[in-house]
Amino acid sequence: MSLTIRPAERMERIPFSGIRRIFEAAAALEREGRDIVHLTVGRPDFDTPEHIKRAAREALDAGLVHYTSNYGLVELRRAIVRKLAADNGLAYDESEVLVVQGASQAIAVAIQGFLGPGDELLVPSPAYLNYLHCATLAGAVAVPVPLRDENDFQLDPDDVIERITPRTRMLVVNTPQNPTGAVCPPDVLRRIAEIACERDLLVLSDEIYEKLVYGSFEHASMAAFPGMKERTFTVNGFAKAYSMTGWRIGYVAAPKPLIDVMVRIVQYTTVCPTSFAQAGAVAALEGPQEPVARMRAEFDRRRHLVQQRLAAVPGLTCARLQGAFYAFPDVTSYGLSDDDLADRLLVEAGVAVVPGSAFGPGGAGHVRISYATDYDRLAIGLERLADGLERLSRG
Ligand code: PMP
Repeated sequence: MSLTIRPAERMERIPFSGIRRIFEAAAALEREGRDIVHLTVGRPDFDTPEHIKRAAREALDAGLVHYTSNYGLVELRRAIVRKLAADNGLAYDESEVLVVQGASQAIAVAIQGFLGPGDELLVPSPAYLNYLHCATLAGAVAVPVPLRDENDFQLDPDDVIERITPRTRMLVVNTPQNPTGAVCPPDVLRRIAEIACERDLLVLSDEIYEKLVYGSFEHASMAAFPGMKERTFTVNGFAKAYSMTGWRIGYVAAPKPLIDVMVRIVQYTTVCPTSFAQAGAVAALEGPQEPVARMRAEFDRRRHLVQQRLAAVPGLTCARLQGAFYAFPDVTSYGLSDDDLADRLLVEAGVAVVPGSAFGPGGAGHVRISYATDYDRLAIGLERLADGLERLSRG
């Protein structure tokens, strides 16, 4: 009998990443010797600060090579508790923190733990795609809540209310936001918090870009609003603030009964995050914070360059850049789909950007530009982008 390999039915609804598609196309051109400026990456381009790497090396040498608690190292959970109090005004204790393999796993365990078949998850659109696909994997339904350019990509509380049904269980809030670079102001978050309390919703608050807010924009945590701590999953990690994407350490803070559900998923999947990487994460929180400020200042310098260069491109409109390291300009005036436009820019201008529809239907007609790239390369990339778009508009 021949073997029939058939993926699980749920996998039919999980597509290959649209971001990867443009990476693969860029890599093929590079193999032919073309120079491509990548404005696609969602990771800081800095090395992890030395004191963090040293702490991980020392932990390895000291024999921290075994499983840790399923909840994560207690030293790390205590450091996270202190961080959440000092930076976010949140009073958690160590039993309310679960350390996992990146904010991605935090999102996965919150969704898997609390959503089942037919349950609805309200997800901003465009957004980081993990919310949507984790919901699909759980058999739940992701309901998009549109973010609009004219609104600086803020969640509109009325749009949230309109989409609540008796099946709605959870709402995703991501500020600062990927892919739009928007930061949700505290008064909007407060209104969303009131809605969550009135309609008895759980809230997944993804704060991974928290340290990357610029100018007069401010970050606020959902769990700090009245009535919210008991219903909020505060998700954060080390990838963006400390340039530690490869370390795979993140966490979710929530009331203990919620943690006790999520830890059971960890027990039967990943067991615990890497032991010595957790030791590095302790050093990240407890050590000097100047490297974070330095990286933020460099991103801010690049942000000004991006905002200024994009404003000078005829036919392009771009909301204010407030946080993270992304711009999400509207490219509909060029008369091509965002996929085709990104392909043409890659092949004809040598600059890689991500088509906006890779972030869900609400991203169509846009491209995502990441400024997590060295300043001089970024300047070249923006020049190529402007030239490429000008050529396109001339036909
Ligand atoms: N949330 C958002 C909004 C992100 O953009 C990312 C990474 N691109 C993550 C979560 C995942 O972070 P981590 O590397 O800690 O899993």
